[in-house]
Amino acid sequence: MRIDLHTHSRHSDGTDSPSELMAAAAAAGLDVVALTDHDSTEGWEEASQQVAGTGVSLVPGAELSCTAGGITVHLLCLLHDPEEPELAAELDRARASRLSRAEEMVRRINADYPITWSDVLAQASSGATIGRPHIADALVALGHVPDRATAFEHIVAGRGKYYVRHYAQDAVTAVGRVRAAGGVPIFAHPLARSRGRVVDDDVIAAMARAGLAGLEVDHRDHDEPARRHLRGVAAELGLLVTGASDYHGAGKPNRLGENTTDPEVFGELIARADRQPIRP
Ligand code: AMP
Ligand code: FE
Ligand code: FE
Ligand code: ZN
Repeated sequence: MRIDLHTHSRHSDGTDSPSELMAAAAAAGLDVVALTDHDSTEGWEEASQQVAGTGVSLVPGAELSCTAGGITVHLLCLLHDPEEPELAAELDRARASRLSRAEEMVRRINADYPITWSDVLAQASSGATIGRPHIADALVALGHVPDRATAFEHIVAGRGKYYVRHYAQDAVTAVGRVRAAGGVPIFAHPLARSRGRVVDDDVIAAMARAGLAGLEVDHRDHDEPARRHLRGVAAELGLLVTGASDYHGAGKPNRLGENTTDPEVFGELIARADRQPIRP
């Protein structure tokens, strides 16, 4: 069983439609894939319609934008009830804040690199969770940078002069909200330093006390020392260890199935959820 529990579609900053993602999952030899768009569950329905045809089981999920004292935390939320009002309101609030934040970043960037809001919207599918990757894609289309990665080195970088924050829920509170919505919370790439500051172990411990299920250890943004450290933290706190690709289609080099989750761990994860994966 090959299980990849973290991927993105065009409903956030991936480049595949949910149908294309399911087909790519089958082509990559995956048995199980989780769709975890940033702050969105909009892709679930289309992806679920492809389960029978592709033979790939779907774990509906989302990657929640969170903060721990100003440090960005991404929380994977699997198999939750998308209609649970408190959690759904947090997703809506994050998406709305991301829109106004991206508009403000575009206003600032435009002072040095001519770009308009419609240039950015042209890079996103309608209703998608807007992120810096869409601004990056617009900068590529306008010829200001050669690719997304170059845009992230400077113009849309977290430490850059055009950067603007967006609303994100507190990470410890978010863990409780995911549990209350019947979902399974997993801390995504906890030590991905290339993206900015990362949390100390005491934040992971606080999230564990709130009901965190696991740590995404096997992820390309973690080097071997980071993985070793996180395995130790997981053992100490009684957390499960997962691995995943964080696939974004053509938007990132991450390939489906490049990191996977152990089938036994997967069994323990889904046993904690109110819902079950959608199986062929
Ligand atoms: P945002 O959520 O709008 O702050 O943007 C962060 C997103 O940008 C993350 O979800 C990543 O998928 C993406 N990202 C970060 N660094 C890079 C990079 N170097 N190349 C492509 N995408 C990136
Ligand atoms: Fe992303
Ligand atoms: Fe992430
Ligand atoms: Zn992700």
